[in-house]
Amino acid sequence: MTEQNRVAIVTGAARGIGAATAIRLAADGFAVAVIDLEESAGKDTVEKITAAGGKAVAVGADVSNGEQVAAAVERVVAELGVPTVLVNNAGVLRDNLLFRMSESDWDTVMNVHLKGAFLMSKACQKHMVDERYGRIVNLSSSSALGNRGQANYSAAKAGLQGFTKTLAKELGQFGITANAVAPGFIATDMTAATAERVGMGFEEFKTAAAAMIPVNRVGVPEDIAHTISFLVSEGAGFVSGQVIYVAGGPLD
Ligand code: NAP
Repeated sequence: MTEQNRVAIVTGAARGIGAATAIRLAADGFAVAVIDLEESAGKDTVEKITAAGGKAVAVGADVSNGEQVAAAVERVVAELGVPTVLVNNAGVLRDNLLFRMSESDWDTVMNVHLKGAFLMSKACQKHMVDERYGRIVNLSSSSALGNRGQANYSAAKAGLQGFTKTLAKELGQFGITANAVAPGFIATDMTAATAERVGMGFEEFKTAAAAMIPVNRVGVPEDIAHTISFLVSEGAGFVSGQVIYVAGGPLD
């Protein structure tokens, strides 16, 4: 089997990094399940893929809800076939300084990033084990190294690195790799929301960020999609348990 007839699931694929990844994997030859909170939100991504001659379906599911995850993966199996590639990308921010961070801000971030990746990986791994082949990529972040205002998010993104390494150890014997991609600043709705939170215009925010990045620009979703494309390729079968920072330079 090659990328030409494999099925990939990308969560949070209605926009941003998830959408770019879904589009890239479809161009690589995968049939792609575009999972997002609302099925209707994924339609844009699906239309872009089908217009370019690819195959995709939009599936609505909250990745932090076990029943919705199970139903979504069953639908993917029925409509596209067994998923052997999973990109856990869905994410939310609930930024605040620790003293202002509510319990629900903490829980929401943990549930979407960490529990979501756990539920999706668990639901997909049984198909990957049956196929004796799989590729799992989890979206971590440079914030895993610590970032002011993001106690919840940085803990979740650091947690995903430990989760990734454990999956690599448990599942490697079945031909399954697990890796994490840790983006730096990528221009998406998420970073636009951060600019708004700190009271800056997005253009000004991006210019200030670019000045701190060795390649002298901020990232775009396609930068991350390119790295994920490599990690989910057949030829990357000896790369597992790694965290790849894609940030335009080394981080402190
Ligand atoms: P984004 O533009 O905000 O897109 C995130 C997508 O995830 C949205 O479509 C969102 O749906 C969806 N989503 C949220 N909660 C969900 C849930 N419970 N179930 C299913 N889908 C859900 O974010 P992005 O910037 O592309 O980021 C993608 C990933 O990369 C995230 O994990 C993020 O933490 C990580 N990352 C981003 C950056 C960056 O600079 N942008 C840097 C490091 C890491 P709604 O639109 O309905 O909310």
